Amino acid sequence: RHVAERYDLVVIGAGPGGYVAAIRAAQLGMKVACVEKRGALGGTCLNIGCIPSKALLDSSELYHLAKERFGRHGIKVDGLGLDIPAMMKRKDKVVKELTDGVRFLFRKNKIEPVFGAARLTSPTTARVELNEGGTKDLEAGHILLATGSAPTRLPFLQFDGKSIVSSTEALCFETVPEHLVVIGGGIIGLELGSVWRRLGAAVTVIEFLPRIAGTADAELGTLLQKSLTKQGFQFHLDTKVTGAKVEGDRVAVTAEAKDGKAVTVSCDKVLVAVGRRPYTEGLDLEAAGVAADPKTGRVAVDPHFRTNVPTISAIGDLIEGPMLAHKAEDEGIAFAELLAGKAGHVNYETIPGVVYTWPELASVGITEEQAKANGVDYKVGKFPFLANGRAKAMDETEGIVKVLADAKTDRVLGVHILGARASDMIAEAVAVMEFAGSAEDIARTCHAHPTLSESVKEAALAVDKRAIHA
Ligand code: FAD
Repeated sequence: RHVAERYDLVVIGAGPGGYVAAIRAAQLGMKVACVEKRGALGGTCLNIGCIPSKALLDSSELYHLAKERFGRHGIKVDGLGLDIPAMMKRKDKVVKELTDGVRFLFRKNKIEPVFGAARLTSPTTARVELNEGGTKDLEAGHILLATGSAPTRLPFLQFDGKSIVSSTEALCFETVPEHLVVIGGGIIGLELGSVWRRLGAAVTVIEFLPRIAGTADAELGTLLQKSLTKQGFQFHLDTKVTGAKVEGDRVAVTAEAKDGKAVTVSCDKVLVAVGRRPYTEGLDLEAAGVAADPKTGRVAVDPHFRTNVPTISAIGDLIEGPMLAHKAEDEGIAFAELLAGKAGHVNYETIPGVVYTWPELASVGITEEQAKANGVDYKVGKFPFLANGRAKAMDETEGIVKVLADAKTDRVLGVHILGARASDMIAEAVAVMEFAGSAEDIARTCHAHPTLSESVKEAALAVDKRAIHA
């Protein structure tokens, strides 16, 4: 007879949500198995998401700097060229080292990785179709669903893996496209568009909404769009894609602008980046009676990540909230701590969001539009990198910092940064907001000179109109 192996916790999916939850649960003394159907740990983020995209963003940025900007620093480069296979190989190496790193962490924490596709068979059991063949039954005191998300498909623009692709293929093009059309001006479209633009492709972004980076503060979103336009991006905003016709190596993309004007773009690659959908295929939620939102497909959970089935929880891209790796990780930790009877918590007000274009756009808290829409009485302070000494020294003067603070209490409500390394600078704002700090707190905090982060301090000073350098 097939005897199920018993665990305190079985995690399904080894992305940043699942693997982090597994480690924290193991640290807290639980016997944990983590099922993953991909051949490697780390999920979307490490294998086909955050990490390979940043590896290519960094490589392409270096090429772009060498080509366009080194001259301004008095550095001459002869014979500059591209070796895309070598660039891809470096990216793959970065991914492999990090996914192997998670494997090492599993060994260190005595977590059993089970490679195969899991399906629920009851509220406390799952059956895994092992990648190596055969099946394995797992029984658990608790099951955590962390199966993440997959690219949203457009019915009239089916992925063919070659000409019409998702982010996964756009991370592995063997040559630089001549013309890349990006459907969707969100984070993933802008980042991958940037990679191929810097490497020489013509890039056209078609976006249904009137602006790119739709959830960002509108002023900074507009500044980013201007910057990307200067870099050679073409934008069709307020424009709805209606179809695409593949003929040999070419694709004719058809779209319709809001004013009724027809738009046709001829290209060799189309990246469909219109969002991601929660992924539950093959999981058989019904077998365990787990309820998902019929409209969005997201698994419904209470504030402690419990589904309607008491022994099953869910975290990460699979549930409500921003589809971000750090959100999934924090939920993984909070879930494991709650399961162990501790006080796990995620503060959804202070989850930073970053668009890794250059300049980068990083935000935390509310935007000016949200403050206005909700009738919040706020003050705003802004500071341009043009007035920052380090930015001048680096030749990175594009962008601004914007701090929003409550008009009465001075509490920081939101910080938005467009600039070089905004992704690293936003951490200060997140920490201040986590401590319910004020603009005055940032303004009175000593910032090393000369650093880009002094602009955050100056923007905080500007909230009460006392910036020193502007
Ligand atoms: P996932 O990482 O999707 O992991 C789920 C795992 O579950 C997968 O490995 C899948 O194979 C496995 N699985 C699914 N079903 C089963 C099953 N039945 N049995 C076994 N295993 C199963 N976020 C950021 O914060 N910063 C970024 O810079 C960033 N860049 C991105 C760039 C791209 C191109 C993409 C696509 C995404 C990016 N994201 C980024 C989003 C980030 O990758 C996700 O938010 C994050 O991976 C979600 O984590 P998760 O653990 O919920 O799920």
